[in-house]
Amino acid sequence: QAKRDGRNACQVYTAQVAPLDKIRVGLESALHHAMERDELRLAYQPQVSVVGQQFVGVEVLLRWQHPVLGMVAPNVFIPVLEDTGLIEPFGEWVLRQACRQYRQWLDSGEVSPNSKISVNLSPRQFRQRDLGQRIRDIISETGLPPANLTLEITESTLMYNLEQGASMLTELRRMGISVAIDDFGTGYSSLAYLKDLPIDYLKIDRSFVKDIVTDHNDAAIANSIIALAHNLGLKVVAEGVEDADMLERLAGFGCDQYQGYFFARPVSADEIPLLVSRCA
Ligand code: C2E
Ligand code: MG
Ligand code: MG
Ligand code: MG
Repeated sequence: QAKRDGRNACQVYTAQVAPLDKIRVGLESALHHAMERDELRLAYQPQVSVVGQQFVGVEVLLRWQHPVLGMVAPNVFIPVLEDTGLIEPFGEWVLRQACRQYRQWLDSGEVSPNSKISVNLSPRQFRQRDLGQRIRDIISETGLPPANLTLEITESTLMYNLEQGASMLTELRRMGISVAIDDFGTGYSSLAYLKDLPIDYLKIDRSFVKDIVTDHNDAAIANSIIALAHNLGLKVVAEGVEDADMLERLAGFGCDQYQGYFFARPVSADEIPLLVSRCA
């Protein structure tokens, strides 16, 4: 009996794994062509101040529209890009497009001169030895003032090699670029490192914001992150704010900025000017 169960369990296991493997290989080869076939798009999500709803910037989010699969979620394809190393050229493409677009909006007066565009950097991108030079090249090529650029990295990206990470952050800071720690609170956080690093923003992960109105523990964590950040001289951005009650709670905690469906979903570039004009 046990033997038969064991064999059945094994069959179930292989039956499930084989297709997933194939899907992954399929995604990988489809991704190899995504750029040349013009299947990549950028979405922009506005970030606004909690008090007064002033426009402070946008976060850039990569989108992949496959002709057959349709829109593939970043949580599905970004890990494949990361594992295959494709994230390096794709990430550079995102950064170049984003800088070019923001320079245009600044030039046409569509966005305010002190607002910023935020671009996500993956762990693998952040570990590139020549990242500083690559970014410098993109900045000079696109003409985006570095003061209008924020780069987002996660805690775990930073903790992977704290020493190398710290010197990269210092290089970015010298260039005049701002740094945000993304998904803050979800990594394994040694809070001690925060005080010594040239960081400008903490982004509270959506998992703490989601139930902030009903869950006392989530509210306590969000409140503590905001207090910690302020004591260290950092600004706080909340992600995933979906309604007025969540925003009110964050306002009570003194949160500086937010992004989320309550103000706007990530949208295509042509929708941004109208959204900006709705801000204070
Ligand atoms: P992230 O950087 O933390 O981005 C925020 C995510 O929250 C985005 O998901 C955004 O669409 C979503 N979001 C914003 N407001 C709300 C809200 O009110 N409710 C809900 N439920 N979700 C909200 P998205 O676009 O699916 O991206 C997921 C993740 O993929 C990003 O998380 C980031 O880690 C990664 N990613 C996206 N674009 C890039 C990229 O260009 N480069 C790299 N390295 N990673 C990227
Ligand atoms: Mg982000
Ligand atoms: Mg985030
Ligand atoms: Mg997040």
